[in-house]
Amino acid sequence: MGFIAARLRLCVALGINHHRLTAPSLKRFYMASKTQVHPMEITFLGTASAVPSSTRSHSCLSLRIGSDVWLFDCGEGTQRQLQRSVVKMGRINRIFLTHLHGDHIFGVTPLLAGLLNGSGGVTEGEEDPRQFLDVNNPAIEIYGPLGTRAYIRSSLTHTYTTLGSAYVVHELRFPDDPKTGDFTNLRRHRSESPSGRNIQQVDGLWRDILTDGRISVSAAPIQHSVPCVGYVVNEAPLPGKVDPQKYIPELKRTNTPMKVMRDIQEGKRVKLNDGTILEGPQNRPGRKLVILGDTYDPSPIEPLALDAHLLIHEATNAHLPGVDSRTKEEDTYESIEARTKSRGHSTPQMAGAFAKRIRARTLILNHFSTKYAADEDGDDEAKLIMDTIRGQAAGIADCEVICARDFLSHTVVVPAD
Ligand SMILES: [Zn+2]
Ligand SMILES: [Zn+2]
Repeated sequence: MGFIAARLRLCVALGINHHRLTAPSLKRFYMASKTQVHPMEITFLGTASAVPSSTRSHSCLSLRIGSDVWLFDCGEGTQRQLQRSVVKMGRINRIFLTHLHGDHIFGVTPLLAGLLNGSGGVTEGEEDPRQFLDVNNPAIEIYGPLGTRAYIRSSLTHTYTTLGSAYVVHELRFPDDPKTGDFTNLRRHRSESPSGRNIQQVDGLWRDILTDGRISVSAAPIQHSVPCVGYVVNEAPLPGKVDPQKYIPELKRTNTPMKVMRDIQEGKRVKLNDGTILEGPQNRPGRKLVILGDTYDPSPIEPLALDAHLLIHEATNAHLPGVDSRTKEEDTYESIEARTKSRGHSTPQMAGAFAKRIRARTLILNHFSTKYAADEDGDDEAKLIMDTIRGQAAGIADCEVICARDFLSHTVVVPAD
């Protein structure tokens, strides 16, 4: 959270005019926020590959960090899924797109129109306030590969959509992509901020494409049938756990004010009234989330992904003899894996192997073939299929494995150790 946003939110929380916020109160807020662990919650809004089904919508998931909401991919129907979910739409301020296959991006412009008060314009002679938009202050930031800016610009332009707030697109450029330019001859849309960056790889990675001191996001290419990206969300180190029994008797014994506990909580060294030095606990690593797009081999992201607290990996197809009645007699695991890879996708076993390689603590499988209904619909065969898919990944992954379904929420906790 940036300084200004934090100031505004603090004021909203306190119910005061933010211009009246004094320096000492800001300082207190920052001291408190440093030791605060913000909730991190993933909610799946669409878990289907290619074609949606009655139980799975197209790809999209939300990540709530504190009160901010970020989306990863934004397939057809995302806006409707959001309305049916616990996610607060008005809190969405960033969208990260993994690749430009339609099942991952067809929902972007309808969502922009919904979030940013879109309109189809006004009749001749009427004045549309949207034409006086401050494009230098975008409400939504969008990240994606080359073509993201052109796609959104074209979609808004050709549907005569104007927005009530601006958006900006930052593109992750691959080495073979043009380094500059917008990849379209269309003029910049009137709602589009000119501040969109074209971010180049360094050593095969896009490190720290955004950072606000508390959270940083990096990205790397992953292998699919088209240019595709995986994202890594890194939380800054968290304060260590304070055992009050270790410190408070010492403060009392030396008649040292209790307010030094704040410094102790931040891991600082403090000097007590009798000259004794106490050390605060060491910082703990922050949480790391690895959110992959479609892939048959995500190994280029491995250097960024090691020791992830959560890995979200696709598992489009599985070999399920004796479980899925549609399994053909001539199919083997090898033939299914080869076919799945040839389409740019993974099996549960491949996802499990990558989770093991990066020592992930939790693996959530996602992006299932339309054949595999979500398991909560009371269908025994569907439940058995999803349990078997989970088991196939877990047999290799050596960590907790969960199968995503639409509207599943998962809280990423800070490990006790
Ligand atoms: Zn897909
Ligand atoms: Zn794809």
